[in-house]
Amino acid sequence: MTDAADLRRRTAELLAAHPPTRLPPPPSNEGPAGPHLWSATDRLEFLRARFDAGLAWVHFPEGLGGLGTPRPLQAVVDAELAAAGAPDNAPDRIGIGLGMAAPTILRFGTDEQRRRFLRPLWTGEEVWCQLFSEPGAGSDLAALATRAVRDDRGDWIVDGQKVWTSSAHLARWAILIARTDPEVPKHRGITYFLCDMTDPGVEVRPLRQITGEAEFNEVFLTGVRIPDAHRLGAVGEGWQVAQATLMNERVAIGGTRTPREGGMIGVAAADWRARPGLRTHDLHQRLLTLWVAAEAARLTGERLRQQLSQGQPGPEGSGLKLAFARLAQEISGWEVEFLGEDGLTYDDWTMRRPEGVDFTGREAGYRYLRAKGNSIEGGTSEVLLNIVAERVLGLPPEPRTDKDVAWKDLPR
Ligand SMILES: Cc1cc2nc3c(=O)[nH]c(=O)nc-3n(C[C@H](O)[C@H](O)[C@H](O)COP(=O)(O)OP(=O)(O)OC[C@H]3O[C@@H](n4cnc5c(N)ncnc54)[C@H](O)[C@@H]3O)c2cc1C
Repeated sequence: MTDAADLRRRTAELLAAHPPTRLPPPPSNEGPAGPHLWSATDRLEFLRARFDAGLAWVHFPEGLGGLGTPRPLQAVVDAELAAAGAPDNAPDRIGIGLGMAAPTILRFGTDEQRRRFLRPLWTGEEVWCQLFSEPGAGSDLAALATRAVRDDRGDWIVDGQKVWTSSAHLARWAILIARTDPEVPKHRGITYFLCDMTDPGVEVRPLRQITGEAEFNEVFLTGVRIPDAHRLGAVGEGWQVAQATLMNERVAIGGTRTPREGGMIGVAAADWRARPGLRTHDLHQRLLTLWVAAEAARLTGERLRQQLSQGQPGPEGSGLKLAFARLAQEISGWEVEFLGEDGLTYDDWTMRRPEGVDFTGREAGYRYLRAKGNSIEGGTSEVLLNIVAERVLGLPPEPRTDKDVAWKDLPR
């Protein structure tokens, strides 16, 4: 059984075999040292070696970047590697791959799919995006209209339009859900695919956001050919597979691991300490209330992560994401108010194509504007409240009149 001590030993072995930082050259009078002692390891080489040593995500199975150990032990490895100055896999850039595609491929993928996709996903060599939402299917995702039809070679030909696709401009692969049977009720005729974004027929167009940037996109799919080997799960069972992705998405968005006073509340607290001239009694009270709420949310996330060490996330992740969205908006609103004129400056309005969301490295105006999307992405706050009401609190469900109607007969 791998425990914390064993993980420390394995991490030390990885660092010894692949020194991540450049050590000073040996003093000349001692003669040349072996090159391994003072040459830095290439970043990608280090990440691949870390994956192969099972230290990427320790709770994954052996051979797939993990060691099958409880998830909380990941913190032991991360701390040792950070102290040694080892490179990470830029998790902000590959959040959809790490948080959504990977757990879904692990749970529903064939052995071949797991071996083909998980390693380059984790190292960041292949970025992933999520082709779920459509112009007519957001909260009511099961109403989606993108069609996948099987041809006589057994491949799937996909036609349709997706929207709000974060990182599609960077992505090599996408998780995609499409309608394969319009004759059955909407939840039953969906199939889940892994789509190569470089294939002919995939067109990505930028969508500019309130921040001025285009972090997400429209994606048009015209006659895109997907081999059946890139189907994830059974034909017609894509809704169940997508549920696993969405539950993981909420935990990924709402449950980012931060130290006490990390993330946005850390930035707000630093502003408070640095600018005594701007302080008022009312802003102090509100900051303290937000600090306590942020700490409660952080600890709740920590507990959820520990529960997650066994099995898949449940609807509780929706509550965490709900709390995260509310806090992000309230804290960034507080900061803009506290900073007064400085909070209103937003100096670069050129359209950029960012590689991810940067909540702590940017100016207050960016945080304020970007946080608006937090109560929409990954499920709107209203929809998450419905999930918590029905599936956590056991309250009566919303009336659903279309449950037994074939998708083709639904009004659109
Ligand atoms: C920053 C950002 C990034 C995104 N990235 C991606 C991505 O990478 N891939 C992807 O597939 N999608 C992505 N999305 C899309 C996101 O998942 C959808 O916007 C979201 O699910 C809401 O769908 P909608 O925009 O169609 O709004 P609608 O579903 O039309 O909702 C409109 C309003 O009605 C409310 N509403 C709807 N149904 C109910 C109900 N049953 N009860 C109460 N209120 C209800 C909603 O809360 C909302 O206020 C992203 C969105 C944002 C903002």
